[in-house]
Parts: sequence; C-alpha cells; structure tokens
Amino acid sequence: AQAQSTVVFDSHFARELPEMAIHWRAEEFPDPRLLVLNEPLAEALGFDPAFLRTAEGLHLLTGRRPPEGATPVAQAYAGHQFGWYSPRLGDGRALLLGEVVDAAGKRRDIHLKGSGQTPFARGGDGFAVVGPMVREYIVSEAMHALGVPTTRSLAVIATGQSVARESLLPGALLVRVASSHLRVGSFQYARATGDADLLRRLADHAIDRDHPAAAQAENPHLALFQSVVSAQASLIAQWMLVGFVHGVMNTDNMTVSGETIDYGPCAFMDAFNPSAVYSSIDETGRYAYGNQPSVAEWNLARFAEALLPLFDADEDRAVALAQEALAAFRPQYSAVWLAGMKAKLGLPGLDDATASPLARDLTGLLQAAGADYTSFFRALGRAAAGDTAAVRGFFPDPRPFLEWLERWQALAPDAGTMVRTNPAYIPRNHLVEEALAAAAAEDLEPLRRLLEAVTAPYDERPGLERYAEPAPEDFGTYRTFC
Ligand code: AMP
Ligand code: MG
Ligand code: MG
Repeated sequence: AQAQSTVVFDSHFARELPEMAIHWRAEEFPDPRLLVLNEPLAEALGFDPAFLRTAEGLHLLTGRRPPEGATPVAQAYAGHQFGWYSPRLGDGRALLLGEVVDAAGKRRDIHLKGSGQTPFARGGDGFAVVGPMVREYIVSEAMHALGVPTTRSLAVIATGQSVARESLLPGALLVRVASSHLRVGSFQYARATGDADLLRRLADHAIDRDHPAAAQAENPHLALFQSVVSAQASLIAQWMLVGFVHGVMNTDNMTVSGETIDYGPCAFMDAFNPSAVYSSIDETGRYAYGNQPSVAEWNLARFAEALLPLFDADEDRAVALAQEALAAFRPQYSAVWLAGMKAKLGLPGLDDATASPLARDLTGLLQAAGADYTSFFRALGRAAAGDTAAVRGFFPDPRPFLEWLERWQALAPDAGTMVRTNPAYIPRNHLVEEALAAAAAEDLEPLRRLLEAVTAPYDERPGLERYAEPAPEDFGTYRTFC
C-alpha cells in the first residue's frame, strides 16, 4: 500500500459559494474500523484500496486528516419537508470533504455522513448508526447496478462510539460519492437570502457541475431548469420501473444532477401496490410509491420558484417560461416509463398505442393479486421462453391473467430482453434487515453475500436462490427508520 493518497482534492464549492459553505472539521472518533470498502469505486476514483485500508487511509476517509486541497465544509440548504418549508436545514451531520476527478474525467464530491455535529445540527447529535449507513450502502450500490442514477457509497466505517437512539447503537460514518450535492433546497436557500448574485453563482456552478450543455443555450438558467426536469422525469420513471420507494422526497433530498440521494426510510416494493409506504414517519402516505411522480413535479415547481429571477427580468415572462418548461415533466416521465415497461415486457419495439393498455391492464392485475413485483417479471421472462407454470402461480384466480397472457404472447415477446431488464436480485427488505442486524453485531458475511447478489442483479447464479425469493410469510409489515 502507498503511504499516502495521490488523489488530488479540490474545493470548487467552498471557493465559489462561500456564503453556503461553513468550514468545519469532522469529529475525531476513538476507534474507527472499516466495515465495508467499495474497491471498484475506490479504483475508479484513483484511490489505492490497500492504502484506504491503512490507518492513514482511515484518517482520510473519516475526515480526521483531510487530504491536501480538501476543504471540509458543511453545506447550507433549505427545503420543504413533508410540504412545510424550513429556511435552514443544511448538513447537520455531514461534510463535503472535497471534490476529485474520477477515471472518466468527471468531478465527484467526496462527502461524509455521520461525521459529527455542525452549525446546522439543530439539536441533532450529528451522528449516524451502522444500520442505516449500511442500508444506504446496499441500496445505493444496488440502484447503481440496476442502471438507476444514484449517489454511490465508497465505505462504511464503524466509529467505535455508541449513539443514543431508541437504544444505544453502534455509530458509523458513510463515505458518499456524488456528481454533486446540489439540491432543490440549495436553490431555495440561495433565493431566500435575497442575494441575486449568489443565486446566479449557484446556478452557474450547477451548470458547470451537473448540466454543462446548458451553458451553450440561449438562456442557460432556463436550460438548467429544463435539464433538471428531464433528469428527474427520467429518474423517477426508473424508480417506478424497479419498484423503488424513496420514502422522504423532501426538496432537500432532490438533486439537481438527477441522481437518487439520501437513502433513509427507503425500500423496494414487494407486492405491487401504488399505496405502498414503508417509512415510519410518512403517516399520510405523501411519499407512497404511486405518488412519486406527482411529488417530483411539485418539488420541481418549488425549484422553478427559486430560479425565477434568473429566467427573465420580467416576472410574468419568467413565470410563463417556468410553466412551459415544467409542463415537459409529464410527457417525459411517461415516455421513459413506457419505454422501460416495454423492455420489461420483452417488447421494446411495440407501438405506444398497443403498449399503454397492455401495461395498464397488467398493473391492474398485479395490484388485484398483490403479486410480488420483481419476481413476477422474472417469471414472465420464463414464460416468454415457453415456461408459463411459474407466472400463473402469482394469481389466485388465473383466468383474467391468462387472457392478458394470450394477448402478450401473441406479440412475440423476446425472452433475452426480459432477462437483461428484469432483475432477479433486488435488496429485499428482509434480506437488508438480516444484513444490517448482522453488521451491527460485527458479522459482515450476510452483507457480503447480499452485495454479491444485488451488484449483479440480472445474472441469476446458483447458491443465491434465497436472494431471488420474496419475504417469508412471517416477515410481516415492513417499517423503515431514518
Ligand atoms: P434527512 O431527513 O436525512 O434528509 O435530514 C434532514 C435534515 O436533518 C438535514 O439537515 C440533516 O443534516 C439533519 N439531520 C438528520 N439527522 C441528524 C442528526 N443525527 N444530527 C444532526 N442533523 C441531522
Ligand atoms: Mg437529506
Ligand atoms: Mg437522511
């Protein structure tokens, strides 16, 4: 292993937006230990994984000894939480360590979550615990393997400290990697300061980081908004296609990059149900599976409000431009969703007029039967290859489904497309819980096995059968906590 990191850190955010960056240091933890390191990601960022495993490497990953060029800061942001505006949220327990350029030439944030209280902590203790940090690692890496844009997880480090929650729990820190940590809430914060120059600098910074093509447009700030609308329409459609429920789609948890961020009370849906909610704090179902597209659109309207003065000096004209740009969300969302659903059905070339009712009728049947979403599509893939036994078993009364099946079979679905589009392995709730509980008790083997399954989700392998199966009957109702 090298004695020190050769990765060059930079601090564009801290330099360009000092009003939104509080210089801060991470807590020094008594006994940090690496629980999991993402070696391929480390290498893609230019790190020597062997170095990151040394004491010196751990000092880098925990922020104790920031590398040269890194300027750790807590980022300011505001946000609508469950519809209610908070003018000052910010990184209460996180720090942007710095930015690095990855092997593909793309600038990436290296961010610490659970690194101690900051001036934004608002009474929180600044810490994180092993379970939720390992959940973020598992689910974000699964999402990446499924091809869904997401922040990544470089490492989870046990801090050696106990953290007071419902009981005393082992503390941990997550090292997160992202295109940027700019959120809708970052723009709400900048707008609320009344500083027009700050808002403009933030928008220019976002263009540079996340949507460089917008710089070439006639109205770059409007183009930034249009790019974010497209990126989010596509992202949410992909969530819906894989059955992902984010759980806390507050405006501070919606990125400008279009990456999924902040894996708190998230879950993959098992039985198909638009009302599926897993988060313990989402009492009204605001962020239920089926509400996600309309919530994203609502969040983007808040983004447009924040950006408004940059669209046009004339306010009426600015509002008209914003409304026109936001109107693109629904058709873009629907187009990505339908294209994805066609692929899941093995019918990528099917015309929309045939595909739409076919998909709609199927989701109605799945909902009525409470069929396991992921396993159903995998079984349907086997039906495309001629074996319909498994897929019939999802329906207590198979008659309406068999009618649908005939309609679908007549369109000659392609089994190969289906096997590449419908995952065998997702981070199922009962398996995630099993891995988290074991990791908290220092047994990392269930985590290793689960990661092995979900990081190659389409490639069904012997020995991993239980990772492709729905939860056992006695698993009960699943509730997630932040
Ligand atoms: P989240 O619901 O994870 O998006 O977090 C919302 C806000 O609460 C953010 O400003 C976080 O930084 C802050 N926060 C969450 N947990 C803690 C904690 N344990 N200590 C300090 N701040 C926290
Ligand atoms: Mg958050
Ligand atoms: Mg969170």
